[in-house]
Amino acid sequence: MTSPALQSSVLVLNNHFAAVRIINARRAFAMVWKNIAEVVRWVEPEFSMHDFHSWKELSQLREKFDHTDEWVHTVNFTIAVPRIIRLLNYKKMPQPGVKFSRRNIYARDRNRCQYCGKSFSSSELTLDHVLPRSRGGKATWDNIVCACVKCNHKKAGRIPKEAKMKLIKVPRMPQKNPIIQHKLQLVKYRLWRQFLSDAYWNVELKD
Ligand SMILES: [Zn+2]
Repeated sequence: MTSPALQSSVLVLNNHFAAVRIINARRAFAMVWKNIAEVVRWVEPEFSMHDFHSWKELSQLREKFDHTDEWVHTVNFTIAVPRIIRLLNYKKMPQPGVKFSRRNIYARDRNRCQYCGKSFSSSELTLDHVLPRSRGGKATWDNIVCACVKCNHKKAGRIPKEAKMKLIKVPRMPQKNPIIQHKLQLVKYRLWRQFLSDAYWNVELKD
């Protein structure tokens, strides 16, 4: 199967319907195909669960008139990209707190250099220790920010004040996962809201 729709994100729930991570549609299809997970379809006011076969059948029924979904076309059939799947044997609950990771830092800072304020692609950004490592600065949410190469170079091993530079905002640990927050603004992921109560905001991203 090849389709850009396979890069779409799918919310993964554990056995108890708590959101645990986000993966891409390609992996989601593989998990449903292997019966590790089932598709969760939400149509107000209730949801239904489907194995690969029933999801494929339902997709074929809906294909003619449903234009809101994304579709993957194979040689033999067309199937809708699921938005949510549920792991059949996974009971672990998600860890509290937003994971401290490069991706989440970039998302928190919206890919903007926190010194000059300009936007960059991820590959053009570096992570800067506000209080330099050489002075005991730690890799923590409140001491790591995105910086462009130019600003990082200019700041070198100094604190912002010494370099006559200013942070555009005070770095903090985000309350909610910034990547999910961003995705929730897209219509195609709005179904996720059902499963993202405050307790489950901090799902891990694995795509
Ligand atoms: Zn900069």
